[in-house]
Amino acid sequence: MSDDRAERIAGFIEALRVTPGSKVRLDRDFDPRHKAGLKKRDAAGLLRTGVDLLAEYQERLAAQNTYGVLLCLQALDAGGKDGTIRHVMSGVNPQGVRVSSFKVPSDEELGHDYLWRYAQRLPARGEIAIFNRSHYEEVLVVRVHPELLARQRLPESARGPGVWKRRYREINDWERHLEDSGFKVVKILLNLSKEEQRVRFLKRIDLPEKNWKFSAADIRERRHWDDYQRAFSKMLSATSTQWAPWYVVPADRKWFARLCTAAILVHTLMDIDPQYPQLPEADRKELLVAKRDLEREAPVGLPADPYTARHSSARDERTPGRRAGK
Ligand code: ATP
Ligand code: MG
Repeated sequence: MSDDRAERIAGFIEALRVTPGSKVRLDRDFDPRHKAGLKKRDAAGLLRTGVDLLAEYQERLAAQNTYGVLLCLQALDAGGKDGTIRHVMSGVNPQGVRVSSFKVPSDEELGHDYLWRYAQRLPARGEIAIFNRSHYEEVLVVRVHPELLARQRLPESARGPGVWKRRYREINDWERHLEDSGFKVVKILLNLSKEEQRVRFLKRIDLPEKNWKFSAADIRERRHWDDYQRAFSKMLSATSTQWAPWYVVPADRKWFARLCTAAILVHTLMDIDPQYPQLPEADRKELLVAKRDLEREAPVGLPADPYTARHSSARDERTPGRRAGK
């Protein structure tokens, strides 16, 4: 990977990053229609490059088996979380990725502390985990609908004033602990405009094959649009940290949102820069002993090691000059 490409990706996503410690307002500071001067027709090729890079880095992440990545995706309904996950992760080995979707908590989940169910779904070393909705619902939907907080059966002391500030601190501390343990946390808010949500809802109603994606609850939540914008702004200001930054991705154009998400993930993996493990000398010697044994088993008339035979002849064909001693 050339440093040049890494630098360009870092530059591209820098504008989307919420500076840790800054106070932001979603409706004032971020434009859902922004597209960085790109055209849709250029996006397909760029996304393919991003997906290829992701596949390569994910393989190295798994082989090194030391670090893990957690991507949290937040958005309002019709924000494009599902499609983004599908497109961005399309080239990645499914064994190295796990996606968890978080809905209204079950009775069992409500019987535990609020981070419990998210902790169950964290990545292992070598894995990328994607949270489709995440622990941030605990300071979003739960903040917009105070009756949900009441359902959490918290003791009096944990419900009173300061509950949101406390949750921000607890979440920051939790993410810091993950970072210290080798797990990179990266957070994306797909930022949709109210008008684009209206258009997408109408499409889901108009097209019978999209009806299943629409629910009356979506319209009920839309009525709380301004409350959500406020909750998002407070969350971004309080929980974008050096160790787990927020990125606000313009989401009115699906192709641009996918490109940004791929770039953010690639950047995170490049930062880890996972390496294939090198075998210790003693283990390498053992491999060479095994190689000799396998070569001795070759049937008569066949090459002792077909792989080396094939590749060295291919190399020879590519470099005729060298064989001729030029
Ligand atoms: P899609 O609509 O694309 O299937 P979705 O993520 O919107 O995906 P839904 O089943 O429609 O899935 O909605 C899940 C609902 O669960 C959302 O309204 C979300 O706010 C709610 N939810 C998630 N976490 C919590 C939580 N901790 N407490 C209460 N509600 C939650
Ligand atoms: Mg929904």
